[in-house]
Amino acid sequence: MNITDLNRDGGIGCNSMLVEVGPFRLLVDAGMHPKKAGLEAMPDFSLVEDNSLDLVLLTHCHLDHLGSLPVLMRRQQQAQLLTSIPTKDLAGRMLRNSINVMRRQREELDKPELPLYTKQDVQRMESNILPMAYDRPRIFHQNGGELKVTFYQAGHVAGAAGLGLEYKGRKIFFTGDVLFTKQKTLGGARFPKGELDTVVLETTRGATERANGVTRQNEVERLFRTVEHFLSHGGSVLIPVFAFGRMQEILSLVNDARKEGKLRKCPIYCSGLGMDLANYFDTISRKTGLINFRRQILKDLQVKRLPNSLKAGSNPSEQGLYIVSSGMLVAHTPSYKVAASLLHHHQNGICFVGYNDPDTPGGKLLATEQGDNFLFEAIDYSCPARAHIEKFDLSGHAERGELVDFAIGANPRAIVLNHGDPEARAWFRKELTSFSENRKVLDPEPLERYFV
Ligand SMILES: [Zn+2]
Ligand SMILES: [Zn+2]
Repeated sequence: MNITDLNRDGGIGCNSMLVEVGPFRLLVDAGMHPKKAGLEAMPDFSLVEDNSLDLVLLTHCHLDHLGSLPVLMRRQQQAQLLTSIPTKDLAGRMLRNSINVMRRQREELDKPELPLYTKQDVQRMESNILPMAYDRPRIFHQNGGELKVTFYQAGHVAGAAGLGLEYKGRKIFFTGDVLFTKQKTLGGARFPKGELDTVVLETTRGATERANGVTRQNEVERLFRTVEHFLSHGGSVLIPVFAFGRMQEILSLVNDARKEGKLRKCPIYCSGLGMDLANYFDTISRKTGLINFRRQILKDLQVKRLPNSLKAGSNPSEQGLYIVSSGMLVAHTPSYKVAASLLHHHQNGICFVGYNDPDTPGGKLLATEQGDNFLFEAIDYSCPARAHIEKFDLSGHAERGELVDFAIGANPRAIVLNHGDPEARAWFRKELTSFSENRKVLDPEPLERYFV
């Protein structure tokens, strides 16, 4: 098998890997770089000639895996696109939202190439999807060769899949983004048991060591103790979340905390895309049982849409809990606006529940000392960071030790590192080679073709 990492910048970036196995040419994921915009945010598809792919496989609907897919599929119309069943329903919704974001960026960032695709491209892409049930292999034929493809539940977010490929008895496995631990709205990963020849491993949390005794359950309880503290002292609380998955998970946990008497009644505000995705989650939940979420939760919690009246530097007119996107306080998003409203006052709290890249406003705020000045660059507003800022370890990604256990347990000849910053990959390289010097641990250079 040959692999070429098309994520031109390395790091987490825009995920996309070209895989050549026997007579088959495949592409796994076609993401968009979360910190870039326009053409430079896309993987380098110059190595993929038009109409040269047989299969395109999508692990899940986060934009760092999905965002460039309509552009790719425009040039690969004969290729079959494989997704899990929930992803088939969710991908189009996420991409249509991206078109709106790109339309805004066209002016804001002066990128005339935006939007990179149209609703018609998304529609055409959707009509090409072959949905894959978890654990049910399909066989594909090409020039007398036979390729077996199996999707496995990967936890992480609704519809996420690990991908198993089998060609002439050789087994290759892509973890995709994975969480082994069960969440409130989603089961944990159920990956294949037994030996594999090659494992392509996500490495997101390679540089993160979880403190002893910290569990997901403890962190959830600590989160609601913190939220309750600020609400009971007359403040408001912001929980920045990704609209897809994390918002519904947190709402579900809030609902439980309230039923258990751990959280008082208060107004709860959410942002539009997440509320709309809640409808999709409800449908997928009823149709497939693969997620556990009901739209009713929004009614029970009397969730309201975020008002337009928020002003930087002045508390919102109604005290409450703001569960809004984006998770990293990206400029101009609802969470950015709420943060600019809450940060000046010590009664308020900002509770981060996911990874924040150090270059994003969320990452910068986390690095700000209490009382130091913080600049909201996009709106040219600054204030002392008086609100309480806290981080909770509720990551959607597996701990590094669990990933090592999985990879080593499969006893592969080769492990390919993927989806991680340089320090994260370095930790995995060192840890994985310590088990056996004969095993190849490959940290591929972007755009170089490797035989594994
Ligand atoms: Zn993801
Ligand atoms: Zn990812």
